[in-house]
Amino acid sequence: MEAALAQDQFQIYLQPKYNIKDDRLAGAEALVRWQHPEWGLLLPSEFIPLFEKNGFITKLDQYVWNKVCSVLQAWSGAGGVPLSISVNVSRADVYQADLIELLTATLEAYGLPASSLHLEITESAYTELGFVIEMDDFGSGYSSLNMLNQMPLDILKLDMKFIQSETAKPVDQGILRFIMDLARWMNLSVVAEGVETRAQLERLQEIGCDYVQGYYFAKPMPCSAFEALLRNQQEAPPPAAASAAPSERRTQI
Ligand code: C2E
Ligand code: MG
Ligand code: MG
Repeated sequence: MEAALAQDQFQIYLQPKYNIKDDRLAGAEALVRWQHPEWGLLLPSEFIPLFEKNGFITKLDQYVWNKVCSVLQAWSGAGGVPLSISVNVSRADVYQADLIELLTATLEAYGLPASSLHLEITESAYTELGFVIEMDDFGSGYSSLNMLNQMPLDILKLDMKFIQSETAKPVDQGILRFIMDLARWMNLSVVAEGVETRAQLERLQEIGCDYVQGYYFAKPMPCSAFEALLRNQQEAPPPAAASAAPSERRTQI
């Protein structure tokens, strides 16, 4: 693992997040891949569980955060529109006493504001200093309604199984609407991940979801491909819908 890290075998892929109202790129999630010299491109499910057990995840995550910051710094240097990138924060990271100092120092080293790095956390964690906190996989076994009022959250990220079963089983439809209403009431933005079909997107539009991420729009891609997407968008004028007033006090991503 150490050698793989030193040899740059870990790569950052970015998956776009879109604003549901105008289809514009709103940010990205950084997802790590392992380009293994013998086994090829490995997905996180093939190595993250092991790294979470043996503790290496904290090192890998720090590497990912640094890489993401360097990408963000390059974009801001190039005069691009400031986008935020979400990084995944593992439970093991949260147990590190100096997590906040570490994140702050990383951002400072690249001259970036805390708001440019969103933290996706699946279990209870604390934060301060302006980081935007996204509760990842909401609706999966790891999160509960109770945690919503105990954590300083800005964004609710709905678990994809949820979105997918919603369209499959009409009887479940009330639950998603209820969660959306709850999020509104708590002033949280909502990101739906795992959007794979037009029907799912339409349903999410209907119930007032803010942002979407999923194969229907784009799969995770190397940073260079994401940058090409970003350049295309900057050249295209925003559609009329984009001039609508930003929604109340909720966090814009
Ligand atoms: P996650 O954070 O919930 O990330 C979303 C996962 O859903 C990603 O899988 C993404 O490729 C996949 N996905 C996105 N859209 C769709 C879709 O429309 N349909 C389907 N079926 N899947 C979709 P990926 O990249 O394999 O990552 C899996 C998990 O590994 C992540 O789930 C996250 O928990 C973890 N992970 C990934 N990168 C990192 C990292 O740098 N650090 C840590 N600690 N965990 C990571
Ligand atoms: Mg995530
Ligand atoms: Mg997730």
